[in-house]
Amino acid sequence: MVPDDAPGLIPDLATLHARGAAQQPTYPDPAAVQAAVQKLRGMPPLVFAGECDDLKTKLAAVSRGEAFLLQGGDCAETFDGVTADNVRNKLRVLLQMAVVLTYAASVPVVKLGRLAGQYAKPRSSDTETRGDVTLPAYRGDAVNGFAFTPESRVPDPQRLVDVYNSSAATLNLVRAFVTGGYADLRQVHAWNTSFVKSSGVGARYEQVADEIERALTFMKAIGADPEEFHRVDFHSSHEALVLEYEHAMTRIDSRTQAPYDVSAHFLWIGERTRQLDGAHVELLSRVQNPIGVKLGPTTTADDAIALAERLDPHREAGRLTFITRMGAGKIRDLLPPLVEKVRAAGVEVAWVCDPMHGNTFEASSGYKTRRFDDVIDEVQGFFDVHHGLGTWPGGIHVELTGDDVTECVGGGEALAEADLGNRYESVCDPRLNRVQSLELAFLVADMLRR
Ligand code: PEP
Ligand code: MN
Repeated sequence: MVPDDAPGLIPDLATLHARGAAQQPTYPDPAAVQAAVQKLRGMPPLVFAGECDDLKTKLAAVSRGEAFLLQGGDCAETFDGVTADNVRNKLRVLLQMAVVLTYAASVPVVKLGRLAGQYAKPRSSDTETRGDVTLPAYRGDAVNGFAFTPESRVPDPQRLVDVYNSSAATLNLVRAFVTGGYADLRQVHAWNTSFVKSSGVGARYEQVADEIERALTFMKAIGADPEEFHRVDFHSSHEALVLEYEHAMTRIDSRTQAPYDVSAHFLWIGERTRQLDGAHVELLSRVQNPIGVKLGPTTTADDAIALAERLDPHREAGRLTFITRMGAGKIRDLLPPLVEKVRAAGVEVAWVCDPMHGNTFEASSGYKTRRFDDVIDEVQGFFDVHHGLGTWPGGIHVELTGDDVTECVGGGEALAEADLGNRYESVCDPRLNRVQSLELAFLVADMLRR
């Protein structure tokens, strides 16, 4: 048995697995699993406890209605996707979105990447069939290979070490970008590259950038040039799914003697693994990070209240975020009773909208896709419900990329189902492309302003 890194404070792996953990890989070689876990336990933290605490403070502001969360990135990162261009492009679109939201709506924006660790995927089926061949489903690069061959689909625990290394490389680059000048507000024009500039939304962005630049020049002329203009706060997040990885990355903070999952600043529990007595709820109930739970259309208010009691018994500000993903057609009916009863129970959380996962369908060409209009409609429904109840629509959680992919249909460039094959690169769910992401930011800024 793998020794517990934090005796008494977190259950050991065997105890967690004994809860019948959902969505776990079945590894063929237990000794190899143990070797990978031991290796991970010796690796330095990817994030520091104090940084997690900072993010928690910011999320507390979100839950009080004083800030807005922008959380975004790939559905599934891949090891091959860890390139300078790819990481920069994702960061760039998130920075552009954040500027639009901050400037147009005058609300502080908490920036949270769905990156540097988003490598494990829950699946609705354990197997995938193509023609007359059935193989184990792809569960993300953390578990097995995307290639549709029997060898590639065997879960390999060495991949967990690769997750660590890929996350470290990504985070290193992100940290350099956000503190080393790339995120300087004076770069606001440079973030808008040519293909975006030529789109309608790109032109609108140029206007915002012009106005910001003028304001910066004015500030500088009067002698004000605060640190905040030159760097941004940016944090990392992913779904806490593979127990071996998250457990090995859970460490005792030397300052506070409390456990933190140092694989990311923020972890969330997925819709398929949020069982109240399940392993994922148990593990995350023990760590000090700010955490989230996805809530799909079957969630009852009692479920949500019970989750809050398990995960945030001390009702700590910023600790818990509920990420609702109801679907555009359901949110206006399902969200009001949920929010109302949770509020009536005295539970304070940040409410965030994932407008992606309730709106996926298969195009006639076989591609998994989402309609841009459905995404917007769910966000609009989310805002309407919260405005109606007097609660704060705290943020959005989106699957996006900084590239010009063709995975979601619609948007200003009216991407059609027939276009999906042009550049469909996601290994899992369809992401908003660069232009669609920026369009979303402008539409959300309008919703925030009213
Ligand atoms: C995801 O965020 O990629 C995901 C699988 O979401 P959910 O748990 O909401 O289905
Ligand atoms: Mn997804």
